[in-house]
Amino acid sequence: MIDAAIISTGDELVTGRTTDTNATFIADRLMQIGVDVVGVMTVGDRPDRLRWVWTEACKLAHVVIATGGLGPTADDLTTETIGVLFGRELVIDEEVGERIRELFRLFNRPMPENNLKQALIPEGAVIVPNTLGTAPGYRMQVGTPDDPRHIVVLPGVPREMKPMLTETVLPWIAGLAGTGRVGHRTFQTFGISESGLDAALAGIPGEGRWQYRANFPEVSVRVTVRGDDIDARLEAFGREVYARAGQHIYGEGDTNMEAVVGGLLRERGLTVAFGESCTGGLVAHRLTNVSGSSSYFRGGINAYANGIKERLLGVPAALLEKHGAVSQEVAGAMAEGARRAIETDIAVGITGIAGPDGGTEEKPVGLVCFGMAAKDAPTVTRQYQLWGNREWVKLLASQIALDWVRRYVLGLPLLEIGRQGAAPKKPQQESVGPG
Ligand code: AMP
Ligand code: MG
Repeated sequence: MIDAAIISTGDELVTGRTTDTNATFIADRLMQIGVDVVGVMTVGDRPDRLRWVWTEACKLAHVVIATGGLGPTADDLTTETIGVLFGRELVIDEEVGERIRELFRLFNRPMPENNLKQALIPEGAVIVPNTLGTAPGYRMQVGTPDDPRHIVVLPGVPREMKPMLTETVLPWIAGLAGTGRVGHRTFQTFGISESGLDAALAGIPGEGRWQYRANFPEVSVRVTVRGDDIDARLEAFGREVYARAGQHIYGEGDTNMEAVVGGLLRERGLTVAFGESCTGGLVAHRLTNVSGSSSYFRGGINAYANGIKERLLGVPAALLEKHGAVSQEVAGAMAEGARRAIETDIAVGITGIAGPDGGTEEKPVGLVCFGMAAKDAPTVTRQYQLWGNREWVKLLASQIALDWVRRYVLGLPLLEIGRQGAAPKKPQQESVGPG
């Protein structure tokens, strides 16, 4: 198996001014073609640090991919450092030099001489063309014939680097011996913590690399397999994953809850509406982030004030009076009202206390009530004690509302996250839940 190290260079990266998106992009693409990334190393624009990082990276991995430090200014030192470190003269690549001059002619600007610095390439390097900028990249073999290393140098500007990597570098790496076949499967879950998922999947037989990622309020797990029988092995892993955690899996691959719910509604020809209070339109926002949502999302009513719950959702004043705005009774009436007003197959009502203020002993911060009214089904209501700050409570509540729709469409039982009976005295924190 081929392994790689990634070097990110630039003062802006080590001072926290720029997020290293290049490394994550490169790591992800390498992973997809079966290259094992042994490490990501970041240094500022200083010759001693550059020498150190290149020396170490070449000890660690067979392929070293670096970005940054290729510009025309004095602080761009990558090529100079590589020349010194690997004992290569720097030579002007005439084709690249001419291209740089031409670009300046095209923009009708005089070319500062230091721009030609970008045409300096270590002797023997192979150019990686850059169609979007002046600085090309290059690759070359270093090390010894018995233990060769390949180094790849790319510009730091993400927009230039990405096509250079995908169009030139990755096909070349795939052609190096030893990448082999690789396959993945990613399971998206909701309602189970990262550690809970890890425990549920522990000990699944077979050789695979399991990676967990918590992205509140969801957790995903990706399994990677290499070698022979990839499809059959992924299939077998999938069966085990569903057997152990199926009730929490809402989708696979690069997706999210709103896209999954949208896909299901469209497939079944169903329409949905929401009566939202504490989520403030977040559910509608998330659903409408999915293109094509107009075919199933008819609208939402953002009924924040009690008067609006009465007037637009038809929640009886007596119900509000008797149970309070945050109650299962009102959530159910909000769902029914939204369904009636917007004329949909399904509607969900959400009302709760997002905090940090407004909680009482009887109705603490994080208490959220849900109601779902749907065609051919009795209205269901629940009261859940959620957790986290205001943003988390809203996000988690929106996720639950979407998940309810998904479960209704699929005929699945509700996932009882932090379920409570009426009027809890104390918030219960031990409930299962995401990350
Ligand atoms: P350079 O090639 O070092 O001149 O980098 C040019 C620009 O690309 C920098 O000013 C940053 O804005 C951006 N850049 C460089 N390295 C990275 C990185 N690792 N991730 C994201 N952006 C970067
Ligand atoms: Mg730089």
